[in-house]
Amino acid sequence: MVELDRGRSHYLLHVLRLKPGRNIQLFNQRDGEWLSVVRNSGRHSVTVEIFSQTCPAVEEPGSILVMTPIRPSRFEWVIEKAVELGVRAIQPILSSRTVVKLEKLDRISSIAIEAAEQCGRMSVPEIHETLPLGAWLAGRDTSCELWFADERRTGRSLLELRQSRSSGRPDLLIGPEGGFTEDERTAIMEAPNVVPVSLGPRILRAETAAIAALAILGVSTD
Ligand code: SAM
Repeated sequence: MVELDRGRSHYLLHVLRLKPGRNIQLFNQRDGEWLSVVRNSGRHSVTVEIFSQTCPAVEEPGSILVMTPIRPSRFEWVIEKAVELGVRAIQPILSSRTVVKLEKLDRISSIAIEAAEQCGRMSVPEIHETLPLGAWLAGRDTSCELWFADERRTGRSLLELRQSRSSGRPDLLIGPEGGFTEDERTAIMEAPNVVPVSLGPRILRAETAAIAALAILGVSTD
């Protein structure tokens, strides 16, 4: 038997109005859905009995989206869409020109959970603690390619590159609204396994660049 948290209990009791005996699918945010039956419901809590796993988590690992926080409403939109497009994790980073502080991680995490539930994902991407760009570059897993979305068009088209290399999921780095400084650009370009990529001739907002790039990365392999 498992007692659900207050938020989930409220949803089952007062939104779905489920009574004891009803079957539900429970998503554990990690490895799939479980057939369960509501056993007891109090004023604020619901207890369920879990039976069998109905949908094992079989997901191809996606990219890590690395980007600086932008205005909250736009960052929340990016999180929601990035989860739908299959990111493995989201890594917020700080650069010299980052002007927005990241909202509470709780809020971002609940947006990620809701997006995963809504799109039928079997796992919720991890939202990592914010790190300064330099610290993140120094500690990242360099066995994985990092595709750096560069609005100066120093690299190949992301679409062409994706088509020519259909396997593997590179991580994706999107810069801040004001762009990276020259020093930051040098540090990125000189880091191991970094590939600059272009999204075309126009300067896109950070959130447009993130979602356009993730859409190309996802669609071309699934
Ligand atoms: N440095 C720019 C400026 O102030 O003119 C703007 C940066 S842009 C608003 C935010 C980020 O989106 C960039 O750092 C880059 O990662 C990405 N981006 C925007 N347009 C892009 C493009 N055409 N190709 C690749 N990346 C792009």
